[in-house]
Amino acid sequence: MSKKLLIAGNWKLNGKKKDISFINNLLKLNSRKLNKKIEILICPPYTLIDKFCELTNRSSISIGAQDCSENDIGAFTGEISASMLNDLKASYCIIGHSERRMYHNEGNDLLNKKVLSVQKNNMKAILCVGESLKDRKQSKTLRVLGNQLKGALKNNINPSLLDIAYEPIWAIGTGLVPNFSDIEETHNYISKKLKNLYGTKSNNIRVLYGGSVNPKNVFPIMSINNVGGALIGGASLKINDMKSILKQFI
Ligand code: PEP
Repeated sequence: MSKKLLIAGNWKLNGKKKDISFINNLLKLNSRKLNKKIEILICPPYTLIDKFCELTNRSSISIGAQDCSENDIGAFTGEISASMLNDLKASYCIIGHSERRMYHNEGNDLLNKKVLSVQKNNMKAILCVGESLKDRKQSKTLRVLGNQLKGALKNNINPSLLDIAYEPIWAIGTGLVPNFSDIEETHNYISKKLKNLYGTKSNNIRVLYGGSVNPKNVFPIMSINNVGGALIGGASLKINDMKSILKQFI
């Protein structure tokens, strides 16, 4: 059975109670025909997860978080654990977004603990990897991706609760997108690395592309070899863009 494409929205630091209407709108669009081909995931801020899980309860739209603590419980002021997210019925958690790596100094050892915690709580981790513009200019892209994968996927990661998002940092929120042949090269490389790590169990891991995906480029990007979905920032906040993205897969 071929994998469904995962079309995931990362809302970042956006979203208030009034945005419940966004989910109601998405629910109207959701159909069996669409569900055969794609899985829809919305990752709002923590404050909206409970409500969004309640609204999408009987649908096939999944709700996820954008990060979580590596710890389960205890004296960690301000943190949210994977078990708390699971308690709300979230089913995914993004780990290692470049904004977490950059602004919160999150490194591979910590990200590995977070992935393990997400999986221990029966949710899927979406591990983000990606190179900076400097890395790309110095032809270090594949080496950087290899190190990120190796570092964050150690210690008995469960491949059936894992997806990867390839997000070149320079393409996030900039309107820039790599050449399609470069996307193909990196996705092939990541898929090969996953195969080395997990053998045939890697077949179900989707490698999403993220970085300035919009209604105009989503379909051609999703048609590239080994691209298993999209992680979308800016465009996922606009209901009309999301609708237009999703309608292309009906
Ligand atoms: C992201 O935040 O993961 C992202 C890819 O953002 P954008 O789609 O806005 O580039």
